[in-house]
Formats: sequence, C-alpha cells, structure tokens
Amino acid sequence: MKYHDSETAREVANRVQAFMDDVVLPREREALATGEQITDDEISELWEMAKERNLFAPQMPEEYGGQGLAFRDMLPSFEQVGRSLIGAISIRANAPDEGNMHTLELVGSEEQKKEWLRPLVQGEFSSGFSMTEPMQGGGSDPKMLGTTAKKDGDEWVINGHKWWTTGGKESDFLLVMARTDLDAHPYAGTSIILVPTDTDGVNIVRNISHLGGHDITEREFGHAEIKYENVRVPVENTVGEEGQGFQIAQMRLGGGRLTHCMRYSGMAERSLDIAKAYLSEREGFGEPLANKQALRHRIADAETKLHMARTGVRHAARELDQSEARIEVAMAKVFTANVTNEIIDLAVQCCGANGIGKDLPLAQFYENVRAFRIVDGADEVHRRSIARDAFEDIREEEINHVLRFDPDRRAESSTDE
Ligand SMILES: Cc1cc2nc3c(=O)[nH]c(=O)nc-3n(C[C@H](O)[C@H](O)[C@H](O)COP(=O)(O)OP(=O)(O)OC[C@H]3O[C@@H](n4cnc5c(N)ncnc54)[C@H](O)[C@@H]3O)c2cc1C
Repeated sequence: MKYHDSETAREVANRVQAFMDDVVLPREREALATGEQITDDEISELWEMAKERNLFAPQMPEEYGGQGLAFRDMLPSFEQVGRSLIGAISIRANAPDEGNMHTLELVGSEEQKKEWLRPLVQGEFSSGFSMTEPMQGGGSDPKMLGTTAKKDGDEWVINGHKWWTTGGKESDFLLVMARTDLDAHPYAGTSIILVPTDTDGVNIVRNISHLGGHDITEREFGHAEIKYENVRVPVENTVGEEGQGFQIAQMRLGGGRLTHCMRYSGMAERSLDIAKAYLSEREGFGEPLANKQALRHRIADAETKLHMARTGVRHAARELDQSEARIEVAMAKVFTANVTNEIIDLAVQCCGANGIGKDLPLAQFYENVRAFRIVDGADEVHRRSIARDAFEDIREEEINHVLRFDPDRRAESSTDE
C-alpha cells in the first residue's frame, strides 16, 4: 500500500526495516525458540549498530544524539519497529522513555535537559511517567488525582500513591503528576515534577503481575506500584510551567498515542504476514488452507481495516502538526487499538496450535496488544470525547433543519432559481 509519506520518512523506514530484518528479527526468533533472554549488553550492542546506521533515537534532535526527524517523518519507522518484540528498544524509541524524552525536550529547563534528557536519550538512564493511582485516585478520570506536592521553602514535598508506572522500578527518575494547587481546578493546579528514583521516600512497593510482558529480555519492563512518602525535591525540578501538568501531559500523550498506534500496526502487520505464510503452506481437506474462502474473507477484512487504521493515524499526525487534533487522535487510537486486537486474534486462530506456541511471536503479541484498549485512555474514554464533539454542533436550529420539513425554505429556494 502507498501512503504518500515524505521521501525522508520512506527512506528512513526502509533502513529501519532492513535493520529489523537483518539483525533484530533473527535475534528475537532465537530468543523465542531457545528461551534464552536477550541481555542488557546485547541491547547496548544493538544500540551501537543502530548508531552506525543512523537510526538511533530517530525522534530526538541531533544535539542529544538522535536523528532529528520531524514527527511525521519518523512515524513509518515506528511501524517497522513494532514488527518485533524488541524493535522499539533496539533503536531507543521505546515507551515510556520516548514520551519522557519528548516531554523534557519540549518543556524541560536547560539544566534538566543537560542533567536528565541527554543521558536518557543515550540509554544511560531510564525513566517512568507516574500518573495513574489506585482507587479513588486518578485513572480514566484524571481530575481525581490525589497525589499532592506542597511547597516547603525551595522544595516540593510529595505525598501520594501511584501504580502502573511503566519501568518505574528500573528507572533512574520519574515524572510525577501531582496537585500543586488544591484551590484551583485540577487542570489548572497540577504539575509534573521530576523525582530521582533514589530520593528518600520513593518506595517501590512491587511490579504488578499482569498479562503479557517482555520476558524475552533480561530487563523486566514492569509496571510499578509506588508510594511517595514525604519525598523532597527542589522546586526547580518542576517540568514546564507550574500548574500546567495536564496541558503538558496532553502534549506528551497526543504524539505518544500515535507512536503507539504505529508500533501496534507493525505488530498486526507482522502477525498477518505470519498467518498468510502459514495458511499458504499448510494443507487440509485436499488443498492449502489459504484457498478456503472463509479464511480469505477474514484476511481481506483484516487487510482493509489495517490499511484504514494506518491511513487514519497518518491523517491524525498531519493534523497534530497543525493543531491539538484531539478528536482525530482519539479516533485513530480507538480504531487502531480495536483493529490490531482483532487482527492478532485472527492470526493466532489461523496458525492453529502454533498460534499460541512460543516458536512464533504471536502468543506474546496477543498478550501485549490487549492492554492497548486500556492504556493511553480506554476505548470508552476516547469514545466519550468523540461523542461530545459529535453532538456539539447539534443546536435547536440544526435539529429543526434536519428533522422537519420547512415549506418556507422550499419556497425560498424555488424563488432563488
Ligand atoms: C500496560 C499498561 C501500561 C501503563 N503504563 C502507565 C504509565 O506508565 N503511567 C501511568 O501513569 N499509567 C499507566 N497505565 C495506566 C493507564 O493509563 C490506566 O490504566 C488507564 O488510564 C485507565 O485507568 P484505570 O486503570 O484507573 O481504569 P478506571 O478509570 O478504573 O476505568 C475502568 C474501566 O472503566 C471504563 N470507563 C472508564 N471511564 C468511562 C466512561 N466515562 N464511560 C464508560 N466507561 C468508562 C473503561 O473500560 C475502563 O477501562 C498503564 C496501564 C497499562 C495496562
């Protein structure tokens, strides 16, 4: 399929694809087949190779060691890395570090960029984004955020309870969303504060056991439950403007949702490739299974929906370059999340027992993709925004116009003629 991506975007995505095909996918297949985990040293080797091929951290400016690609130019590369379980990390474009790099680059102070962003891009540091809280704190309704940061002299004192902070246990620092002005509406009184993970009072309770996970790498990539108990950090650790936490998080999430869509589209595309290869080779009832119309129609639907998802994400990315594009991003996210879930489920089905076997990556894709309908805003939350926007234009005048026959209007239009 042609997507009319820019020449730069296509050129880089072709090189990322070659890196995946030549280096990353073979290593992933080996790890899946043997059960031998990919070590941190091997990940560092992959980074060196990515640097030699000018593919390392494509989303970051060159001054921090990235490739300096514009957002729309790097999107197709995210599809390519999504094809492998270790694709994103192999070029340092993995969540949540990628989103945190983006946040610090956009609104971080020069000091924060020097001290935290540069080593984060280089892979010397890793990070977490700590927003979601257990009941009755912030989740789908982020206004319910309960974590507070109070000023004491030139320090913040942070108290709160978070969970599902991806990479939190392994991180060097955390970007923590906290209410900094309890008198203001949460959208005007919440800030993002950078907290080094080894600060006194940052208590990592556990990594939460869950469906899926990256168990082909030595590194855990877990989702941490964390208690912040009288955690003191300098007020200069505020990331961006005080009170603007939600606006900054929205900037982070808008692009982050689309990069997630691209990675999961890549995962779905590889799943379809595997399913089509399996069906073409496997015979049953006197012919290759690929000849069965019942399956062919389902593959056709899957190809169609994946194409629509990829097109929608590209459209949202173009809009995001111009404006906030909240609705386009919400539509792209909810559609891609559902389509990729459906396609990976179909691929598992097409491959029979091999679909759930671990020689192929499908079982792990299947486990991983389920979270995409929840993370970055659950389906229902995006539908809520889309519906609110859809109903916004329906005023009384509009209702009359749409529902009722108006003889005067008819007369007016016939006079015009
Ligand atoms: C793999 C993974 C990684 C994550 N990483 C991070 C991270 O790094 N940092 C972080 O802060 N958080 C992270 N999260 C948390 C994630 O952002 C939240 O799970 C998500 O925002 C939903 O919040 P919740 O779990 O509290 O669900 P709840 O708010 O309890 O909602 C439960 C369900 O109710 C439904 N629902 C909610 N609102 C509505 C509504 N208005 N109308 C109808 N139905 C509704 C939805 O189906 C939703 O799934 C991660 C989650 C997962 C699964």
